[in-house]
Amino acid sequence: MADITTDVLIVGTGPAGSATAALLSTYGVANMAINRYRWLANSPRAHITNQRTMEVLRDLGHEVEDEAYLFATGKELMGNNVFCESLAGEELGRMQSWGNSPASQAAHLVASPTAMNDLPQTFMEPLLFKTACSRGTQARMSSEYLSHVQDADGVTTTVLDRLTGREFTVRSKYLVGADGGNSLVAEHAQIPLEGQMGVGGSINLLCKMDLTKYVAHRPSVLYWVLQPGSNVGGIGMGVVRMVRPWNEWLIIWGYDINGPRPELTDEEAKGIIRNLVGDPDIAIEMTGISYWTVNNVHATRMHNGRVFIMGDAAHRHPPSNGLGSNTSIQDAHNLAWKLAHVIKGAAGPGLLESFTAERAPIAKQIVTRANQSIGEFGPIFEALGLLGSVDPVKMQENMDKRCDAGDAAEQQRAALRAAIAFKKYEFDCHGVELNQRYASGAVVTDGQEPPVPNEDMELHYQPTTWPGARLPHCWLFDAAGGKHSTLDLCGKGVFTLFTGIGGEAWEQAAARVGADLGVTIKVHVIGPRMPVQDHLGDWSRIRETRDSGAILVRPDQHVAWRHDSLPADPAAELRRVLTSILAV
Ligand SMILES: Cc1cc2nc3c(=O)[nH]c(=O)nc-3n(C[C@H](O)[C@H](O)[C@H](O)COP(=O)(O)OP(=O)(O)OC[C@H]3O[C@@H](n4cnc5c(N)ncnc54)[C@H](O)[C@@H]3O)c2cc1C
Repeated sequence: MADITTDVLIVGTGPAGSATAALLSTYGVANMAINRYRWLANSPRAHITNQRTMEVLRDLGHEVEDEAYLFATGKELMGNNVFCESLAGEELGRMQSWGNSPASQAAHLVASPTAMNDLPQTFMEPLLFKTACSRGTQARMSSEYLSHVQDADGVTTTVLDRLTGREFTVRSKYLVGADGGNSLVAEHAQIPLEGQMGVGGSINLLCKMDLTKYVAHRPSVLYWVLQPGSNVGGIGMGVVRMVRPWNEWLIIWGYDINGPRPELTDEEAKGIIRNLVGDPDIAIEMTGISYWTVNNVHATRMHNGRVFIMGDAAHRHPPSNGLGSNTSIQDAHNLAWKLAHVIKGAAGPGLLESFTAERAPIAKQIVTRANQSIGEFGPIFEALGLLGSVDPVKMQENMDKRCDAGDAAEQQRAALRAAIAFKKYEFDCHGVELNQRYASGAVVTDGQEPPVPNEDMELHYQPTTWPGARLPHCWLFDAAGGKHSTLDLCGKGVFTLFTGIGGEAWEQAAARVGADLGVTIKVHVIGPRMPVQDHLGDWSRIRETRDSGAILVRPDQHVAWRHDSLPADPAAELRRVLTSILAV
């Protein structure tokens, strides 16, 4: 007999674990979250928060989304990605990033009701954790996962209470390993991992200093400092990252992973920081030094029986593209509704197989993208002539040559411009953020093909209602004039069916099939004199079905299935699709 019983035990209260707990509690599923430490994130590691993650927060409730914006640095202060010799020194170039170029701003506005922002992990984690606890999660800090055993009916996990030194057991129907990049749960569950850990060494130097005079005229999250010596290990150059504008900073510096790990003193750290800033007299208050490695690893399965892994446990990669905590929170959004439906008896365990089918390819994609982005700094080094030599004097001379007259210097300038512009694949990569599409048993395409992309799918979001894609956003209106995103009309743990005039029969069909299967299916009939109206015509343009057709959306806002027009027996069609998706 276990000491504690719950439906889902979550190991870890980072972005992945806290988001899972918050979503499960919102869906009314009993869950418990443990963290081996006494507290949440104590350093602001993840920060870039993309639109899809903000949509997950919005799905948790407007109050959660609003609080995120309250503590975040807005997009408008994120947008100049500066490359320089030092902050006080010469600027080598910059690119407009994170949805701030005029074209990208428009694309972001069209794509989502939410905005990208910079929310340090020290704010995101407490927000998700608080949401979880206030909605029912039982949280235990200073409680360390030690091992688990699963059988046909559940999982028994042994946990160490670090305050008393005593062990206790938790019996749950499912176990979620959201225990980060050194996941013990993944190891014990024998989750297969591909790739290599420790391909580079990086040091985080957290400090307070007022850099207003060097940065306020070119506000940005990231300032890349190319100095001879800064390209050792890590991510290849010195990074000055804004934590709070403009007096709290995180400096990232590399070390050679093949040598011993340096143990920097505060004074040595200040020396590195002053060089990167280019101001030998700047006042610095050190607040932390930590070390991390650049990893290139992804899980090829994300569950084994009743044990699931997510977040950094499943995808371990450098911070490039800012995808870590975003993908972790999005993993949670994918799994939570499935667990809820299975635990409540509305779905069979087969539905849970789709977690691996849908999220493992995303894990691979983002790990590959983040590591590729590091490599894509290479052309900048090359254009500046920093690759052929380790002699600082020679390197400086090569950099200076770009200011000369003549063909060679003109080519060097062109190469540098092109290399910096190419970094949009790291700093303005909207497609990677929003184009996640699923192929699994929890999606029914009925043989329909995805639309042919007309732009680079990594850079640009391509809206579609093709089953598996995230439901495209546009604004719709209620009779009182209230404005709602399509995403506001779905999600929240239930299925939603969108139809139009002539499709009213879908309402009865959804009510009947929903009652039979024990699932809620909300229906919106959209059109003139209907409760929801498409005054702008955008919905009709993007829905890719006729008025009487149907778009069935899953609780995680991804399209489950669509049908072009009203069939002879809509209830039979819905039953066919839902029994297949729910594996019942
Ligand atoms: C410098 C830096 C910058 C970054 N920038 C970004 C960014 O801009 N955007 C972005 O999205 N991501 C970024 N990341 C990555 C991001 O921090 C991680 O991807 C994210 O924290 C992963 O969340 P997680 O919940 O999976 O794991 P973690 O945040 O690592 O949380 C793991 C949790 O598990 C707990 N735990 C571990 N082992 C046990 C155990 N045995 N028992 C109990 N509890 C346990 C831990 O205490 C913790 O609560 C950055 C990372 C770094 C280092």
